[in-house]
Amino acid sequence: MSEIVAELGRKVLETGHKLTREEGLELCRPSVDVHDVMYWANKIRRKFRGEEVKACSIVSVKTGACTEDCSFCAQSSKYKTNSPVHDFLPVEQVRAAAKAAKKSGSYALGLVAQGHGPKDEDLDVYVEYMKAMGEEGLVEKHINIGIMSETQIARLKGAGMVCCGHNLETSRRMFPKICSTHSYDDRVKTMQALQRQGVKICSGAIFGVGEDWIDRVDLAIDLRDLGAGNIPMNFLNRIEGTPLANARPMEPLDILRTVALYRFILFDRDLGVYGGREVNLRDLQALIFNAGASAVMIGNYLTTAGRPAEMDKQMIKDLGLKLAPPRVLDTLPPEGHPEPIPARAAGND
Ligand code: SF4
Repeated sequence: MSEIVAELGRKVLETGHKLTREEGLELCRPSVDVHDVMYWANKIRRKFRGEEVKACSIVSVKTGACTEDCSFCAQSSKYKTNSPVHDFLPVEQVRAAAKAAKKSGSYALGLVAQGHGPKDEDLDVYVEYMKAMGEEGLVEKHINIGIMSETQIARLKGAGMVCCGHNLETSRRMFPKICSTHSYDDRVKTMQALQRQGVKICSGAIFGVGEDWIDRVDLAIDLRDLGAGNIPMNFLNRIEGTPLANARPMEPLDILRTVALYRFILFDRDLGVYGGREVNLRDLQALIFNAGASAVMIGNYLTTAGRPAEMDKQMIKDLGLKLAPPRVLDTLPPEGHPEPIPARAAGND
């Protein structure tokens, strides 16, 4: 057993120690056994997140033909891919997605849209969507629609948005290599506005886009400092037609080391393995929880299919873990009267 990993593991467990960049990099050394890092990450998960697994679902309400050029993404109009393209879904389809999310055991449904960010008039559509979700009752309303002004955030919060998804995607150093149409700082500014507005932040990244271990550590520290409460970890699902179509896939054990590293650095946050789980981890996917994950996405991803929700629920049960029960929220408050964020949803629950 590596002494340095054990020492850092004990420090996090006993004192909630915030790992420094140098300490994070210690966990990434090839000479450090990944199973040692996972052993301690699992203990940290159990102490700070317990045995519950949060499962969330998403629905893509506006898909494809995006103006941005994120090099991993099937939805960019700059690349020739097979992504579906559609404008805003009819509200009844969002209602059906809320029902399906509730039935599958998800605690939240995220409304996701392509694009740089919403126009002010688009917000009317999201208010309608959230009203329909509120009428279905049982899932938290999460929204992930790109870069937003503080005024836009305040309006959506007033209409019931509990959490806003806004991935940093990759490290500050790597960002210009994967996107030229907006900047890392554009994303940071939205996160800062979310913090000021007291909206729960779901922010993570996509791994396997050419970053190294230093990038992974730097990104984890930025996510910690910017108050991300949920950290979705996506692993590149290589899409034909995108610049990263032929990127070298991450090794499953490197994925597990990344999850464990994030559990050390973001010890008290919810850490989810989302996109690319099945395709990259294959038979090792159940080990994400031993590596420190406390959340998964069930059902389909944005433009690719996930495996049936029943298989994930069985996996969670077989591991002796429990699905976090779907949240019961009150019906939608009138716009302009913010729904109080329930205690469990505030901050880094
Ligand atoms: S990641 Fe989002 S912003 Fe970037 S191309 Fe895809 S849909 Fe557009």
